[in-house]
Amino acid sequence: MIRGSQLAVRSSRLATRPENAGIIEGVVFSLRTGALLVALGSIGAQAPPTPAPYTVLSAEGRRPLATRLISSQEMFALDDLTKLFELTVREDTLAGGLTVTARTQSIVLTPGQSLASVGGRLISLPAPPTRDGRSWFVPVDFVPRALAAAMGTPLELRKPSRLILVGNVRVPRVGGNIEVIGPITRLTLDVAPPTPHSIAQEGTRLTIKFEADALDAALPTPSAPDLMLNIRPGDAASLVIDLGPRFGSFRSSDLPGDRGAGRIVIDLIALTTASAPTAAPPPTAPATAPPPVLDLPPSGGIRTFVVDAGHGGTEDGAHGPGGTLEKHVTLSVARRLKSALEARLGVRVILTRDADATVDLDERAAVANNNKADLFVSLHANASVRASATGAEVFYLSLEEYGDQAQRVAKGETEALPVFGGGTRDIEVILWEMAQARYIEASAALAKEVESALRERVPMSPRAIQQAPFRVLVGANMPAVLVEMGFITNADQERLLTSEPFQGLIVQSLVESITRFRDRTVSPASPATAAPGRPGGGMRP
Ligand SMILES: [Zn+2]
Repeated sequence: MIRGSQLAVRSSRLATRPENAGIIEGVVFSLRTGALLVALGSIGAQAPPTPAPYTVLSAEGRRPLATRLISSQEMFALDDLTKLFELTVREDTLAGGLTVTARTQSIVLTPGQSLASVGGRLISLPAPPTRDGRSWFVPVDFVPRALAAAMGTPLELRKPSRLILVGNVRVPRVGGNIEVIGPITRLTLDVAPPTPHSIAQEGTRLTIKFEADALDAALPTPSAPDLMLNIRPGDAASLVIDLGPRFGSFRSSDLPGDRGAGRIVIDLIALTTASAPTAAPPPTAPATAPPPVLDLPPSGGIRTFVVDAGHGGTEDGAHGPGGTLEKHVTLSVARRLKSALEARLGVRVILTRDADATVDLDERAAVANNNKADLFVSLHANASVRASATGAEVFYLSLEEYGDQAQRVAKGETEALPVFGGGTRDIEVILWEMAQARYIEASAALAKEVESALRERVPMSPRAIQQAPFRVLVGANMPAVLVEMGFITNADQERLLTSEPFQGLIVQSLVESITRFRDRTVSPASPATAAPGRPGGGMRP
């Protein structure tokens, strides 16, 4: 059910805010070569009681940034961020708010709230700011989500390798793998993004030098010491292979890697076979791709999916004649859908709530936007004064109430929506109220798939597919639909909605329609037709 208050008819706020347009500014640190270090990944480390510090990598070099675990959230001290990034922090003791100013933009934090405002736009954080003694702490995600936008500078947080990249520093990820093929030891390095490099032998060492500022490397352990004793980080952005006693010669080739990465294959050939290195064929683009060395997100299409369980907490949603509350039905289906999508499609699924909790409508879209979700589905159960009203309905956003500009954006008649920050998708922020406008066509296609998959399995309303100005959809920066699974006010449908088999049919329909939508919109051969409107798609840098 959607009440009048949940319809977003706010065309007066749709005027372009000029202050959002020209925010792109230079990087904080000037680029300087030479002071660059290799950061070795610490992938797989268990969270220790005192977490290891992050390393802030900028063109000026590197600095440690300590974190603290507070209520199992990893946090930075605001004081530390203030020194590193030249911020000012003002605490409003009366209102209980914190204002962090970075250059010209302000971030407003409210104790106890995980929503923050950056230059007037809402972003969500995994936890509220927390005071400990005299110091304030913010979740580590504050850096890419809030600070980057406020500073207009790319700030990339790499959690597995505990790095923060400032500005346009080039720090490719490198993953490695070693195989022994007869007399040949083959080192495969996947490098993302692909980075120019040179390979040179000096005595008993082979050096691979990358045109980068540092490396974010997770290196393999050699298994054939007669040819390769060790592989380790070298000076600047380089890797060094210490050669073993039986090393004779090497050959290398560059291949395209998986998902947009570059692949470097280096064969170390043993002395005795150096004159006839035919035991292993030279590496070519294989018919069956070897397993990826780097842990990158799956290619193209749908990687992250947000499922929104309607209502929750103080908002019951619609009531059934038997006492069923809409908020419980939506959460139950959302949880089942999450398991099914993760198991069947291998995508990451985030729930906007996983408890009987009150979540603001804007925050629901913010969760999807901040997690760079590729699809958003909001689940509801319908209500009607007519007890006989029955069947499922699928909605996507109607732009009619949103004024001319939103409709021009949807038709592609205007320039791209204002984007500030540039650089990474982390800090891509567009005018909040119009985020959905450029996905209307994709959302309509998704709605059609959902409707036809549902129709094969569950009763449909005579108006099975509709457009409406739903507030929860309008801020979503990805294709988004809202599904009314049935009429909870109809006693028969109420029983269905709470039954496991019916919920299973809804889940099946959604999984199938999402699969069809993905297959229709994403074709590896023609990236132009891939997920509409996602700049920098393909591989996440
Ligand atoms: Zn509802």
